[in-house]
Amino acid sequence: MDEFLLIEKELQELRQQGLYRSLLSVEEVRGPFITLGGKKYLCFCSNNYLGLAGHPRLKGAAQEAIEQYGWGAGASRLVSGNTTLHEALEAELACFKGTEATLVFPSGYMANVGTITALVGKGDIIIGDRLNHASLIDGCRLSGADFRVYPHNDTDALEDILKRASQYKRRLIVTDGVFSMDGDLAPLPNIVELAKKYKATVMVDDAHGTGVMGKKGKGTVEHYGLEGQVDVQMGTLSKALGGIGGFVAGSKTLIEYLRNRSRPFIYTTALPVAACAAAMEALKIIEEEPSRREALWRNVRYLQEGLKVQKFKGLNVQEIESPIFPIIIGAAKEAVALSNFLFEKGLLVTAIRPPTVPEGTSRLRVTVMSEHAREHIQALLQALAQKA
Ligand SMILES: *Cc1c(COP(=O)(O)O)cnc(C)c1O
Repeated sequence: MDEFLLIEKELQELRQQGLYRSLLSVEEVRGPFITLGGKKYLCFCSNNYLGLAGHPRLKGAAQEAIEQYGWGAGASRLVSGNTTLHEALEAELACFKGTEATLVFPSGYMANVGTITALVGKGDIIIGDRLNHASLIDGCRLSGADFRVYPHNDTDALEDILKRASQYKRRLIVTDGVFSMDGDLAPLPNIVELAKKYKATVMVDDAHGTGVMGKKGKGTVEHYGLEGQVDVQMGTLSKALGGIGGFVAGSKTLIEYLRNRSRPFIYTTALPVAACAAAMEALKIIEEEPSRREALWRNVRYLQEGLKVQKFKGLNVQEIESPIFPIIIGAAKEAVALSNFLFEKGLLVTAIRPPTVPEGTSRLRVTVMSEHAREHIQALLQALAQKA
């Protein structure tokens, strides 16, 4: 079979180009430490920004939920898989985001695909940032709407497209809030203004903003003080919230519509209750312990200061706006070599290569967590100093 599909040949090409992907086999996770092949590594590439993934309160909440409801949901939300815990989580998320309602999906990927494909289709246009996350792009492609891309954070280019989009029935602007591989923020105030001017709807993917950005960790919208002005906010339970699942926050009407029209919501089994319970506990901790977010940001600034001295060509240290530090290397093989070098020093920072990032911008995507101690960050800085 393989000889007709030509997949072995394609794999060979990936290997030659340094684009072959393989999986790490993690044996244990303890705070920022991860065990691979019996050896402990300091992890600098997790999205578990607030250290909640292994928190005893999340584990306890998940176990309790399993005791009461069992492990699997047994059916989709619209059949018999919807529990009081799903609804309680949605209510808590709405409270957290300050929106009328929310809808939970089994993953952030599905939340993006499921929202875009429900909202727009033939006769509509989606306008997206060039560096949007793959799940947004897949949603755009699958929707059947016309799909235009503007250069990263270029709101003049966005306006040019909007100016010529009046003949479409609906206009949807889609952007990451915090860009997942670059760590910079979307210029949301400008985007919201343009949306008003040209009668477009704005959707923000706040996978990396949720729990991290804004005074209370509500996300990029809170960071900019734009509460009530972004129509569709997507978030994940899988990054700072330390679990699994995705959600969309917005008006009651939007959520009611998605419940009726979003295929990835309708045609899949409900998120396990354990994930709902853990996410609710995570929201409580985020509210009760702002010290976690403060520790995260202290670490961001500490690494930023340390990297200023090193002057990596591919990193604009002045412009760090989130816990994501992209050290752009260029060629895929060189990014992998630097990642391997750090690995030998006991530091895990996987290389990010195309198609996750544009050709020629392979990078190390360093992320810091609240759980990193100063000496952990110093260890990373010392190792990087040898290659700067
Ligand atoms: C991780 C991520 C997603 C997908 O979320 P999952 O919960 O992991 O499926 C969507 N958008 C962005 C920007 C992400 O970084």
